[in-house]
Amino acid sequence: MPYFDQMEKQDYEQLVFCQDKQSGLRAIICIHDTTLGPALGGLRMYPYEKEEDAVQDVLRLARGMTYKAAAAGLNLGGGKAVIIGDPKTMKSEALFRSFGRFVQTLNGRYITAEDSGTSVNDMTYINMETNWVTGIMKSKGGSGDPSPVTARGTYNGIKACWNFVAGTSSLKNVTVAVQGIGSVGYHICKMLHKEGAQLLVADINEGNLRRCVDEFNAEAIAPQDIHKAKCDIFTPCALGAVINDQSINELQCKVVAGAANNQLAESRHGVELKEKGIIYAPDYVINAGGLMNVYEELAGYNQERAFKRVDQLFYRITNILETAKEKNISSKDAADVVAERRINEILNVSTIWTEAVKAAGR
Ligand code: NAD
Repeated sequence: MPYFDQMEKQDYEQLVFCQDKQSGLRAIICIHDTTLGPALGGLRMYPYEKEEDAVQDVLRLARGMTYKAAAAGLNLGGGKAVIIGDPKTMKSEALFRSFGRFVQTLNGRYITAEDSGTSVNDMTYINMETNWVTGIMKSKGGSGDPSPVTARGTYNGIKACWNFVAGTSSLKNVTVAVQGIGSVGYHICKMLHKEGAQLLVADINEGNLRRCVDEFNAEAIAPQDIHKAKCDIFTPCALGAVINDQSINELQCKVVAGAANNQLAESRHGVELKEKGIIYAPDYVINAGGLMNVYEELAGYNQERAFKRVDQLFYRITNILETAKEKNISSKDAADVVAERRINEILNVSTIWTEAVKAAGR
């Protein structure tokens, strides 16, 4: 479909192509929707085979960020950026500073951050050219590694799901199977263990596995079997598409709630989980702790304020599960309803005359 038709169909605002011969920069910035605030979304670096793949990726990811920010209750819109190139061989100070200059031209309409293929170091170079960047080093006033905060939010979401199922948010003696115990999964296990949950864990990385077995008395399960384990809660923290045509019939849990992105292979798997009576915490909501954390950087980072916001994910997930029940729809669809409702409500607030309206020339 031609780009303008595609943008019109899902109401995209802006698609920006950025090229710099000297540094080799070929980047695309996409701003989907700024109804709620400036578009914030990470910068992904990936050796896309075709330019078209990069465009489709940035379009899809930017729209996802609109929903994520809206459902998280943040005053942010949705955006994303991609750099076409191999992060293992093509990174340089010039590349990221060049990208930073393009971000600066958007004058705050787009705020960038780390994503797959980019690091906190890369954000430091971008920050030399623009202040419209988050997730910078703690030593530079940033919030540092988002993983423990993503874990904190996910833990709160897990408790909300259990409360919905069992009428108590206590996870004492509840069995949780965690798939992937890397940066986020490890911190979730730590909190679950502290609360007295029984842990089953799987990872393809032997070192990560050992650490959880030793520190948290967790039982190691083979990676290919973790989703089949008899447990109360299945917590995916590794890969996308873990809930698919095959695995969905093998689940033996009451709840699926974890930090991994894109857990459902297709949206219809959300409906199938509902039909099976399995409670599902929509991934883009339960894993929003990292986004909430970088959002707090915009007003000057304060960890206490960030944690307070992240802990509210308990109520956000509860609200979505209740909406799903009330409307008899999947929780994934309910999350979309909640996000769209918020955007539309703010969009339709009547314009009353203020000095700010005057300054904006409306
Ligand atoms: P990570 O790479 O640190 O950890 C992932 C872990 O999964 C690794 O230990 C890896 O060995 C393991 N793994 C890979 N394949 C596996 C398999 N087949 N079976 C079992 N384990 C496997 O990544 P992370 O930062 O912890 O992120 C985990 C998930 O959460 C990802 O999907 C990520 O996109 C999502 N997420 C992370 C953040 C964040 O703040 N880090 C925020 C939002 C979403």
